[in-house]
Amino acid sequence: MFEKILIANRGEIACRIIKTARKKGIKTVAVYSRADASARHVRLADEAYEIGAAEAADSYLNGSKIIAIARKSGASAIHPGYGFLSENEEFAKACEEAEIRFIGPTADAISLMGLKDQAKKAMEEAGVPVVPGYDGDDQDAVFLSDKADEIGYPLLIKAVAGGGGKGMRLVENRSQFSSALSSAKREAKAAFGNDRVLLEKYIRRARHIEVQIFADMVGNAVYLHERDCSLQRRHQKIIEEAPAPDLSDDMRFEIGETATRAAKAIKYRGAGTIEFIVDVENGLKDAPFYFMEMNTRLQVEHPVTEMITGLDLVEWQLRVAAGERLPLKQDDIKLNGHAFEARLYAEDPGNNFLPQTGTLHHFTCPAPDLNFRLDSGIDQGDEISIYYDPMIAKLVVWGQNRSEALRHMRQVIKNTAIAGVKTNLEFLYHVFMNKAFSVADFDTGFIEKHRAELTRRFDEMPVPVLVLAALSELMPHMEGKDVWDWSDGWQLNHSLKVNLTFTANNKSHEVGVTYLKDGFEISVSDRPYKVKLLKKEQDDFSILIDGRKISGKVIMQKQDFTVFCDGKVAYLHHYIPGADKQNDQATSGTVVTPMPGKVSNILVADGADVEEGEPLVILEAMKMEHTIKAPRKGIVCFNDLTLEMQVSDGEVLFRIAESDDDG
Ligand code: ADP
Repeated sequence: MFEKILIANRGEIACRIIKTARKKGIKTVAVYSRADASARHVRLADEAYEIGAAEAADSYLNGSKIIAIARKSGASAIHPGYGFLSENEEFAKACEEAEIRFIGPTADAISLMGLKDQAKKAMEEAGVPVVPGYDGDDQDAVFLSDKADEIGYPLLIKAVAGGGGKGMRLVENRSQFSSALSSAKREAKAAFGNDRVLLEKYIRRARHIEVQIFADMVGNAVYLHERDCSLQRRHQKIIEEAPAPDLSDDMRFEIGETATRAAKAIKYRGAGTIEFIVDVENGLKDAPFYFMEMNTRLQVEHPVTEMITGLDLVEWQLRVAAGERLPLKQDDIKLNGHAFEARLYAEDPGNNFLPQTGTLHHFTCPAPDLNFRLDSGIDQGDEISIYYDPMIAKLVVWGQNRSEALRHMRQVIKNTAIAGVKTNLEFLYHVFMNKAFSVADFDTGFIEKHRAELTRRFDEMPVPVLVLAALSELMPHMEGKDVWDWSDGWQLNHSLKVNLTFTANNKSHEVGVTYLKDGFEISVSDRPYKVKLLKKEQDDFSILIDGRKISGKVIMQKQDFTVFCDGKVAYLHHYIPGADKQNDQATSGTVVTPMPGKVSNILVADGADVEEGEPLVILEAMKMEHTIKAPRKGIVCFNDLTLEMQVSDGEVLFRIAESDDDG
């Protein structure tokens, strides 16, 4: 076994690898970019070396620098994690040339599976079913269009070098084909430097089921059962589970054996995932499944497999890389219970999952135990920057069966609180509460289909949320004071009533708090409620609203409030007229950039009369397009905004002046 390994990654996966290395008595070397000098993986490792600027190209993708550090520090192996250099054949080759073991497959296997067309051909030769389509060399547009007719619509155009859903287009009919082809090619050229595409039949109702395989260097291969990753947004996974619900034992065996056969056929070594798409048009029973692609690395969602098998996949990776045989035979690999993983992202589901950046002022969740595991690379106080993936943590639960695991996940989400950046926490809660999801009635279109209810913003801010925010604002003023002394403490001109204004999503909410001898009368939208405080421990409240018990948590950061109550997460701002520049701007119709980026399109003319919600500007940021809409009706004024302009965080994009007919 290795004495010391280098981890060429960051975030939760670097921390995850360090944990197993420590368990095995292996010393760890971390590398970090300048943005990550005090990151969690740096704090956890035995040694750490800076490798360059924040941009991944200057740091985590700088293979030669990383190899030089491995040599200097005496690490005999490099674990690449996922992403970054993990599927880079040049890097794998360079490691072996430098006589440092790459903890992963051979460069040849990475290269073979790296291109979707090549991988499909290799799999077909190994007798693995692949999605019908065209994956040949002829890239002539007319030829491809004829092939598309043969395959039939709807179909998918996929960049052979694609990943992360990029370079992929769904084409519904012939008339869309040529423009979809050129745009897929353009995107693929820009993202991967390779514009070759393949065509594939589009499966309307599909489940994404993937198999975890493992192989050693002497030709043994096994499967560690399957994961269902059908819950996706923008073709990217958000929630994964194992085993795949409702999969029959026969089909589990068949899909597992097929995956193992595929691994053996390409003389694979180490951890790998064979992704299949299952056509569930006629249900899951005996449904046809097809190879989609192979990921030649550890997956983000590997913990669900660990939860149901009781195995440590990173340990297996280390053992196989060190030349050991596979620790278990197929028959000894058990499947016990059910596990879910939910990816907690800094993103705004209510705004097309726009990634968010900022400081994590608050991050608490239940203590890990047999049923709950937290994989996180970030602690309270850390920064979510624009440079890397906005994933904050992975919440992983285990239960005896699916419904028990579901219940655990609901509890975990309800008892997790994050403030400082918007997150998808409430979105995840809605998914785990969804009736169809609870009975495993889903396919890859689930999130799109249920999007409105899963991402709904509060049109009506829930009363408990406003009550909790108001109490939390006023509490510091009254703690340690006798009830009748409160007024002078608040300088309220001896009145026992306080009016507060909270804003959220460009709407304001008036809350009036009157102090009674035995509690409060709190009015929301002029309707009074009797409120009694039962308990307050730090940020946690237990109250009665008209006799109904409500528990919640409120995190205050100056005038910003994040309220967690019964799975709901609300972001409120306590509006103080005059003292409040940002909000005065918002109400005056000034729109600032949500994140640094480039103006890629301006959709209306300067001075146009626009409606509330009308898309006005497209901003390109964090490798995605974001639509900036009018916060209200009025006349748009772009000032100096021009196409291709770089804008920094918080910079004014445009202003919406009131139109004349508004008075
Ligand atoms: P990428 O490598 O960009 O992630 P994949 O080929 O892995 O692309 O596909 C990503 C997702 O797109 C799949 O999980 C599935 O939801 C969907 N998908 C891929 N191929 C098909 C297909 N032929 N029919 C329907 N959906 C598909």
